[in-house]
Amino acid sequence: MALLRWLHCLFLIFSIWVSTLATTQPMPPPPPLRCNQTHCTLSNSYGIWGDRTTCHFPPTVFPTTEEELRQAVANATRNNLKIKVVTKFSHSIPKLACPDSISMVISTENYNSKINVDAQNLAVTADSGVGLRDLIDAVEEKGLSLAAAPYWEGVSVGGMISSGAHGSSWWGNGGAVHDHVVGLSLVVPAKESQGFAKVIRLGAQHPLLNAAKISLGILGVISKVTFALERGFKRSIAYNFTDDSAIENEFLDHGRKHEFADIAWYPSRHTAIYRYDGRVPLNATGDGVNDFLGFQSNSILVSESIRAAEKTLENTRNVKGKCTLASSCLAYKKLVANGLKNNIMFTGYPVVGRQGKMQTSGSCLYSPSARIDTSCSWDPRIKGLFFYESTAIFPASKFADFVLDVKSLRDLNPENFCGVDIYNGFLIRFIKASKAYLGQSEDSVVVDFNYYRSNDPLSPRLNQDVLEEVEQMAFFKHGAKPHWAKNRNLAFLDVHNKYPNFSKFLAAKKQLDPLNVFSSEWSDEILFGKDVNRENGCALEGQCVCSEDRHCSPERGYFCHPGLVYKEARVCRHRANDASSEA
Ligand SMILES: Cc1cc2nc3c(=O)[nH]c(=O)nc-3n(C[C@H](O)[C@H](O)[C@H](O)COP(=O)(O)OP(=O)(O)OC[C@H]3O[C@@H](n4cnc5c(N)ncnc54)[C@H](O)[C@@H]3O)c2cc1C
Repeated sequence: MALLRWLHCLFLIFSIWVSTLATTQPMPPPPPLRCNQTHCTLSNSYGIWGDRTTCHFPPTVFPTTEEELRQAVANATRNNLKIKVVTKFSHSIPKLACPDSISMVISTENYNSKINVDAQNLAVTADSGVGLRDLIDAVEEKGLSLAAAPYWEGVSVGGMISSGAHGSSWWGNGGAVHDHVVGLSLVVPAKESQGFAKVIRLGAQHPLLNAAKISLGILGVISKVTFALERGFKRSIAYNFTDDSAIENEFLDHGRKHEFADIAWYPSRHTAIYRYDGRVPLNATGDGVNDFLGFQSNSILVSESIRAAEKTLENTRNVKGKCTLASSCLAYKKLVANGLKNNIMFTGYPVVGRQGKMQTSGSCLYSPSARIDTSCSWDPRIKGLFFYESTAIFPASKFADFVLDVKSLRDLNPENFCGVDIYNGFLIRFIKASKAYLGQSEDSVVVDFNYYRSNDPLSPRLNQDVLEEVEQMAFFKHGAKPHWAKNRNLAFLDVHNKYPNFSKFLAAKKQLDPLNVFSSEWSDEILFGKDVNRENGCALEGQCVCSEDRHCSPERGYFCHPGLVYKEARVCRHRANDASSEA
């Protein structure tokens, strides 16, 4: 029976492969903003916010020009309304864009018509609602390249700048997109004599630019952004699937030697995938594409079957099953080079292609025809993948200690990490020191990890305690900062004390938005890391760190315990694993 089940899982993995090869009709993601005549609702891309409440507000305005944007801010100011900006993607996980009840919401969905490439000065200026893919394509068409971008293309210019989105690089200006911004226009409230709103233009040397680059939507409405460009180039990428024994000694060298390096670490599999990735000239042979596996569209049937299998493993507390699935996933990634394609499929390393096709992907976003049997695997309309996303940003000097701590925890029982290895393990990326006040003040290492989330908020996860301990090691023991656009609420606790320039950001906020028009209960919760939820079960969803058993799920056998390696951590552990907690 067990063997049959695992053959089934392998079949599912195979089916994904077949479906990605054979199908070209994905269903585009649902619009995150939905409005009728009386009100609108906003969700994130996973369809559910961290606290599982709905975000709703009065009808939204959809400006199409900078002047309409200015008028919208003026109207709100005249009527004493607060303001929030939403995008057509809403791909940030925290509820940053959710407004207070008496607010005007401005969507940049239709503010996306202008992309001006200035080839002579190696710069591009775009409306803030422009999607990243459109921006990249416009730039590449002129033989130029944007050196930094997130791996995921489902973001808008305004959203990615506001939230500190990044790829991976310690070279040049680094892997964070905001560090390539050389100008930005902001619409802010103004006096009645100035028409209640004004546009301010921040050039490269303007003192407010460091505040406005990562401003979480709370300084004003970003109207236009100018990015520095480089002459067009290609990339040459190869993955090395190897053992993970020396990550803590090798990551520095790896990040320094290869311009776009990253490392994907699968602790339960004792495997690390080193990405050897550097630029090559435009005339290098190769027309490859990085169609990252996780961002390809999958057959809806397959996504739902995988989710069903994962749920069964959770409900039956089947750790070994999760490990089999993790092994199959990793083997499959190796087979298809994690989505790298030399032309239509992967035929061998290195894969060489244009920067615009190698840095950023998201083929599940597009719908070239009407058939709708595939989608992004997390599409909230299907019963597909549903997971949390934690992202911790470490000063490079502290990262080795974090890896060693995770290894100590892993070595107590490697199988406990199989759940995270079913997703992408720990993705390790590099970003350079930045002058942005809410950016990283020193060269840093970013770690992303995704893991199962239950449909029922009061259902604990298998080995819940282990990833809670990792999270707390990262954010509390090793001083990591949370990515502003990802993470569960606990990651933001005390966040303002981690940024040396936080007070400068607040001073800029006071100057540009003295009445806090652009703040809301939700963005304050994140910016000031408030510990607001102490309800029963709050630790299960990362809304709190447990201090009492009721924050876990005593009725389902999960109690609040110290960590196994980081003893100061407080985690929800199942009674079946209690013995190890005494070790
Ligand atoms: C599948 C997936 C993969 C991801 N991969 C990466 C990655 O590789 N690297 C990375 O760093 N991040 C990644 N992210 C996070 C993502 O980059 C951010 O969520 C993204 O930058 C948000 O862009 P958005 O356009 O969806 O903005 P939203 O989420 O809609 O908005 C983000 C914030 O910006 C504000 N805002 C938006 N536009 C404006 C404007 N014009 N003026 C003022 N405020 C504005 C909003 O009010 C909100 O506060 C990923 C997310 C997902 C779902």
